[in-house]
This record gives sequence, structure tokens and C-alpha cells, in this order.
Amino acid sequence: MKTALFCKNCNARLSNWLCEIDNVEAMNRLCDLRNDDRYEEEIHPVPKGHVLVIANEVLHERQKAVPGWNPEGHAEKWMNLGDIVDCVGLTDDTTRLNGCCGLDGGDGPNRVCSCDSLVGTESSDCWTWHQFIPNPKATYWKT
Ligand SMILES: [Zn+2]
Repeated sequence: MKTALFCKNCNARLSNWLCEIDNVEAMNRLCDLRNDDRYEEEIHPVPKGHVLVIANEVLHERQKAVPGWNPEGHAEKWMNLGDIVDCVGLTDDTTRLNGCCGLDGGDGPNRVCSCDSLVGTESSDCWTWHQFIPNPKATYWKT
């Protein structure tokens, strides 16, 4: 069953149709979760065509792998930047567009729907993973 991301404000589809990765076995098989200090190559943790569901056992596994990360245990979804559709642009708010070679994604949502709603956060810098995290307040999933 495939799922796609939509804008809560205007109901535009924001992503390709994706397969969920929702267990540790599939995550370890499909995702590239290296924490390479040198970042000599771009790391895209989630392969195109998939969405990693950070909840339940996947969440616990990530908390174990990166002590101190997400201590409240918020559910998140991680996606490949290549699965965001073309109508999703960049915010005009330059305070959210910090980065070295790309966007570090550390200042809140930086990608906008064509209706201007802040739909998620891209990270794409030389020292970060390259991925997209939807803003749950502004988006919803449909199967
Ligand atoms: Zn919209």
C-alpha cells in the first residue's frame, strides 16, 4: 500500500507515492544511516520511493543509535528529497535557509507548498544527511 504527503491548507499532493519502511529489519536493509564524520559523500538515508516511519521499534532503534536524540520520542517521517514534487519551493524567509553548501535545516521548516504553507524541512548540507522531514502541523498522509 502506497502513501503520499498532502498539504493541509490547499490539499495539493507534495510527494510521490511511497512505500512505508516501518520496522527495524527493513530500515537496516534499505536505509543508509551512516554517521560519517567526514561526509565525503552525500548520504541520502532513505532511498527514493520510500518513507521511513520513525515510531515504535524504529524510533527506539534510532534513540539507541544516537543517545540523546529525540528524547520525547516524537514520531517523524523521513523521506528522500527526490520524492518531493516540483510545486514545493523554498521559503522566502532567509533566516531558515542557513547552510554551508546546502541547507542545514536547523532553523525550522524551509520548504513551502505553492500556497505558501511551510510543509517541511530539507537538510542538504555538506555535514548533514540529505533528506526531507514533513511538518506534521501543515501536512497529512493519504493511502
Ligand atoms: Zn498548499
